[in-house]
Amino acid sequence: MTTTIDTGPGQLFIGGQWREAADGARTDVIDPSTGQVVTTVAEAGATDVDAAVRAARAAFDGGEWSGLSGRERGRILHRVAELIRENADELAALESLDVGKPITLCGAVDIANAANDYEYFAALAYSLDGATRDTPLNALAYTRREPLGVVAAITPFNFPLILAGSKIGPALAAGNTVVHKPADETPLSALYMAGLLRKAGVPDGVVNVVTGTGPVAGEALLRNPGVDKVAFTGSSAVGRHVAGAAGEALKPVTMELGGNAAHVVFEDADLEKAVGAVIKGFVFNTGQFCMGGPRLLVAREVYGTLLGILAEAVPGVPVGDPRDPATVVGPMAGEKHLNKVEEYVALARKEGGRIVCGGERLDLNGGYYYKPTVIADLPNDSRVVQEEIFGPVLTVQPFDSEDEAVALANSTPYGLAAGVQTSHLARAHRIADRLQAGIVWINDWAMLDPAVPFGGVKDSGFGREYGPEALAAYTKVKSVVVSLD
Ligand code: NAD
Repeated sequence: MTTTIDTGPGQLFIGGQWREAADGARTDVIDPSTGQVVTTVAEAGATDVDAAVRAARAAFDGGEWSGLSGRERGRILHRVAELIRENADELAALESLDVGKPITLCGAVDIANAANDYEYFAALAYSLDGATRDTPLNALAYTRREPLGVVAAITPFNFPLILAGSKIGPALAAGNTVVHKPADETPLSALYMAGLLRKAGVPDGVVNVVTGTGPVAGEALLRNPGVDKVAFTGSSAVGRHVAGAAGEALKPVTMELGGNAAHVVFEDADLEKAVGAVIKGFVFNTGQFCMGGPRLLVAREVYGTLLGILAEAVPGVPVGDPRDPATVVGPMAGEKHLNKVEEYVALARKEGGRIVCGGERLDLNGGYYYKPTVIADLPNDSRVVQEEIFGPVLTVQPFDSEDEAVALANSTPYGLAAGVQTSHLARAHRIADRLQAGIVWINDWAMLDPAVPFGGVKDSGFGREYGPEALAAYTKVKSVVVSLD
């Protein structure tokens, strides 16, 4: 099938050069809204990954980037943000084609946030500095923050552009070089960004992109001795494996893993506002959102009322062609993701769940669509409640007290995000304090900004992206103590 969107040459980007994989392997890229192949990209093997790490190593050791001042690097990162904005339409079209994201969402969220993120990290680069420390020694003691070296950035399929930027941005700000392996099924914006980074003035070899599979390219990258840090975003299962391998090699890692957040609605909440946040929380990005809110916990006093409102409102959410600007929910990003959602909804029926709305595929143009689905009456220990579904599916459970709400919210192995809907100020803070999550939203959902750190606890991982915390994760501290004798 032909497309009017320029998907580029689909080659690996190594040492500033576009090239095919050493063995010539290429893989299909599929449009999730039709199930059709739209282009192919090179599939990297271990030899290509090694070449990319060598290029990154040489660039780091050469000092062309790491030797710049933070301010000089910051200027170039500012230019990256500008170029993202100047090419917003092309990037949005590409991301929408690759992931099946609604085009309006791509522009307003993916592209806008990616530009904001680079801008934020550019500003942080300006203020990269150390500290002087007061000591009883007759000495001047100070610290310097130095880059780590070569960073392996491994990213998932759901927010390709944003999650690549949330690693490449701080890594570059701190003076590191990068080898990026995007998700197998959504490689296009990573390759486009390689071109933009170069155009902005990032020297050759500083950012390299290897497209390919996790078990081959990802594994080779992870185990390459030339890599100094692994920044991983993906599932908890793969994250466990990646952290294990990095641990054996004593490499620092950042682990941004799965989620299964609880959204707690108290009886004193503004229900009309709460419903908007609840729906956004589980349909945003077609539910393929690590920080989505797929577990709704509702005070029993308003349980029936809220279920009734959801039963009316959710079928009205516009699901359809991602190219239609009115579409809010597009297809799942791939057939395997659609199948997984279907399996979980079938399991919910077996586990005693009542399908309030949805519960089936949407047959449209051969795409991977699933109707937003609300399920009530599931026991808390059911797999559908406990596991990460990663689709537009909401389970709804009642609670009778604050203690029970907190216990239910904290009852899964995950701890990435959580939300509270209440008009009671003290209660909001009290509950936020007790929730096991890296971020807690009060009276809305998915309020994200590069200044606000995010990351997980428990099986959702460790380390923080965004905020000054992210920059710190890409530097090492050196202490210098100068004798004053
Ligand atoms: P995934 O774990 O299947 O893959 C993530 C990346 O790891 C991909 O690039 C993949 O190719 C690579 N990979 C797979 N096997 C590998 C191996 N053996 N060695 C090295 N790399 C390997 O995840 P996915 O399906 O792409 O993404 C969905 C998951 O990501 C969900 O669990 C979601 O919650 C999570 N996620 C988390 C965050 C966060 O910030 N915490 C953000 C987005 C997505």
